[in-house]
Amino acid sequence: MAKIRYEGYCEGEPTRLVREKFGNANVYGQQTKSLLTKATGFIAAYDFTLNPYRGCQYGCSYCYAAAFSPNDKMRQDWGNWVIFKENAEEVLSKELYKWYAKNPQTPPRIYMSSVTDPYQPFESRYGLTRRLLEVMLEVRDNGYPTPTLVIQTRSPIITRDIDYLQRFQRLRINMSIPTGSELVRKDFEPRSPSIKARFNAISIIQQKIDAFKGFVPKISITITPLLPTLLTDETSFIDKLAIADRIVIQDFHPSHNRSLIASTRPEANTVKPKYAWWYASEESSYIKFKEKLVSRLTHVEIKEGKEGFGYE
Ligand code: SF4
Repeated sequence: MAKIRYEGYCEGEPTRLVREKFGNANVYGQQTKSLLTKATGFIAAYDFTLNPYRGCQYGCSYCYAAAFSPNDKMRQDWGNWVIFKENAEEVLSKELYKWYAKNPQTPPRIYMSSVTDPYQPFESRYGLTRRLLEVMLEVRDNGYPTPTLVIQTRSPIITRDIDYLQRFQRLRINMSIPTGSELVRKDFEPRSPSIKARFNAISIIQQKIDAFKGFVPKISITITPLLPTLLTDETSFIDKLAIADRIVIQDFHPSHNRSLIASTRPEANTVKPKYAWWYASEESSYIKFKEKLVSRLTHVEIKEGKEGFGYE
């Protein structure tokens, strides 16, 4: 099949035009043949990953997902383009019923998302993730159990969907908060929501979901990768983490320049020297921070890497 040539990222005549500009991003639409992808690697505990979009407007400096961009130019311009999957609802519905035809009593375990944020800014207008939640919930009307779902995000936009979230019997929300310092966040992920907005989003979910009316989700905070937190912010950050039932920490992915292999973007490495007090002895900084988590958060599970990404 001929390679798609995206307007703005190709030589010669594009085959895919920009549909609109949304904030900083060129938005493209694309048909897809499949939406559920067999889960492998650090999320191999799931049956499928589900990515409603390709690309992510948050454009975090360390994002390993940039490696899965359609071409080199788009990889280098990570954060400035988004591709939405036009026929996603229809495809997901077909794939789910195919699963239930073989496994009528076993809900699929789905991890949403592995290479995008399902609640990135464009979702606030387009609502694709919301419509996919609806498709997953509709299976109940046909007597099937709703999927076990993990939502990985750093976005408060998720609170828009509390009405749907509370209908999932087995839901874990992984809120990504890699640092307790705004200064550090702005250096490593300047376009992302503030740390305060992310903690607020968790509080809102916990306050609004009533165990008598819906199912209360499990909440993880994923500190992945573990970024420095300034000493002045450390104690209050760790105390706030007690809002979750699980904390997951992880190092940076190794850096290299190859496509289709998860890898920390070089942009993150240009920020690191500013935090030499942490990165000069990164391993020991990591261990000390982990020890503080373990000693202060006695009622919270502390897990590392792959072990922390399971649903249970
Ligand atoms: S929010 Fe996640 S997917 Fe998006 S750029 Fe940041 S790390 Fe990558």
